[in-house]
Amino acid sequence: MHYIKCPICQSDMNYDGDQEENYEYCTNKCYAEEFHYGYTRVSIFGKEFFANYRFSADEEKKFRKNIEREIKHLRKNEKYLIKIMESNND
Ligand SMILES: [Zn+2]
Repeated sequence: MHYIKCPICQSDMNYDGDQEENYEYCTNKCYAEEFHYGYTRVSIFGKEFFANYRFSADEEKKFRKNIEREIKHLRKNEKYLIKIMESNND
C-alpha cells in the first residue's frame, strides 16, 4: 500500500526507500508501513500486522482487512485523537 495521506489522521505521509525496501510513516505515529524484501510490517499505534511474499491472495486480503478494521475502529468517534495525544506524552 502507498498512502499519500495518513489513513487515520489524514496528515501527509513520509516516504523513504525504493521498490525492494521502503518505509512510510505518519509523523503523528498513527500509521507506519515497512516493506523489506517481500516482508511487510504495518504498525498502527504500536499494534503490529505482518505479511510476507508467501501469502496467498486470501491471506493477503485478510491482512488488509484486519488493517482496515483497525483504522475504522480508530476513526470511529475520533478515537485516534486520544491515541495521538497519548503518544505525544511519551
Ligand atoms: Zn496519522
